[in-house]
Amino acid sequence: MPVSGLPPYDPTNVFARILRGEIPSSRVFEDEWALAFHDIAPQAPVHVLVIPKGPYVSAADFHASASDAEIAGFWRAVNRVAKQLGLDEPGHRLLANVGPDSGQEVPHFHVHILAGRPLGPMLARG
Ligand code: 5GP
Repeated sequence: MPVSGLPPYDPTNVFARILRGEIPSSRVFEDEWALAFHDIAPQAPVHVLVIPKGPYVSAADFHASASDAEIAGFWRAVNRVAKQLGLDEPGHRLLANVGPDSGQEVPHFHVHILAGRPLGPMLARG
């Protein structure tokens, strides 16, 4: 359900193609619920994307439409990736863009994990 102003789920989006193994990615974690891989254009020394395996356009769509098991499994996977990469200390940032005003580019829900240096203010001014 496209609840965030985005169009219906497009199964040809780049993350759907990564999930199907049609295009390569640098994978760091996979389980029943989620896949994590390095961002192709990293904005910090560590920049990993975690995506659910189901077809959800955005966080809004995911939290409205996914089952409780998918939601719990996904967020546990996000936490496991951060732990596996040793990011609990000195910390990391979780970020999810939702819809046009956020600048969301890829219409498959994803959480960015950013780390590896002090990340500065949350948003650029402007
Ligand atoms: P958004 O702006 O949608 O929150 O973030 C999309 C992210 O996906 C961007 O950080 C962008 O660099 C990344 N990205 C786009 N295409 C690819 C790709 O083909 N492979 C990987 N690994 N990351 C991608």
